[in-house]
Amino acid sequence: MQIINFKIMLNEINILNEEIKNKISNVKDLNSLEEIRLEYFVKKGKIQSLVDKLKDVPKDQKPVIGKELNIFKSNAERIFNELREKLQNQAEENTDLDLTLPGRRNFRGSSHPVMQTMNEMIDIFGSMGFAVAEGPDIEDGWHNFDALNFPPDHPARDMQDTFFVKSDKEYVLRTHTSPVQIRVMQSSELPIRAIMPGRVYRNEAISARSLAEFYQIEGLYIDKNVSLAELKSTLMTFAKRMYGENSKFRFRPSFFPFTEPSAELDISCYICGGKGCRICKNTGWLEIAGCGMVHPNVLKSGGIDPEIYSGYAFGFGIERVTMLRTGISDIRYLYENDLRVLNQL
Ligand SMILES: [Zn+2]
Repeated sequence: MQIINFKIMLNEINILNEEIKNKISNVKDLNSLEEIRLEYFVKKGKIQSLVDKLKDVPKDQKPVIGKELNIFKSNAERIFNELREKLQNQAEENTDLDLTLPGRRNFRGSSHPVMQTMNEMIDIFGSMGFAVAEGPDIEDGWHNFDALNFPPDHPARDMQDTFFVKSDKEYVLRTHTSPVQIRVMQSSELPIRAIMPGRVYRNEAISARSLAEFYQIEGLYIDKNVSLAELKSTLMTFAKRMYGENSKFRFRPSFFPFTEPSAELDISCYICGGKGCRICKNTGWLEIAGCGMVHPNVLKSGGIDPEIYSGYAFGFGIERVTMLRTGISDIRYLYENDLRVLNQL
């Protein structure tokens, strides 16, 4: 067995100590520090091989050399760890802090343009005394068609136009919000003044002008002696608040099974002021609502005596109103969830 002299051992400790200090003082990054760790601090590294030599030191010198080795080893580990911590902090600061980057903004969500339109319409009609009522999306055929005076052979009852929940035609995805009128009549005290917003479904090909799923808002007023003039003034008050005081209006005769007489409400195109443009298809007018006096058969379906009471009803397509407000020409843009489009609205 080779005996290592006390002085030689102390000398080797000093040499290795200087070597490590020297190398560590030149380290600039974590990669070079890692090289030092692999050379000195691992199990088969230079520090451990020096410590292993303690077994060759004469027995009476072991306590002194052992103590020196411990001091050397813990010092080397301390300066190594201190430097590693410092370099890690620097690296983190470098990745976290780039003063040339733009500041961070908190992105806030907002409601969808269709919902914004719907809420505004609810606010306007709400201020005119209309309460909000809701009904189910899955309707029975009676509420969706029969109660609303649809004849048995009406095309809306066909599979081509309507989504039937079961093939027995008992239940449908409601094709309009009008069945809520019947539910409100059946469950409310008179007079009734309600608006009924909600989603409706049609078995239609999706195109620039139509969707298979969209929103309507329906209005209903029932009392004694309700007149067509009141319907007109209600819709005009609404339209002035929604589209501006200078809007002009016209009613065109129309046909719906559930109203008699029936009309379409047009407003003057607020884009071109009535001169004619792309949005109004050069007519100067925009169709915004269907309306009319509630058909006596519909009142009867709702359990109301048409000899005593009368009423008016109207309905808007909320996507249509949104398109007219925003100038969007393709209804599909509203639901493609493209932020480049939605952010502009
Ligand atoms: Zn126009």
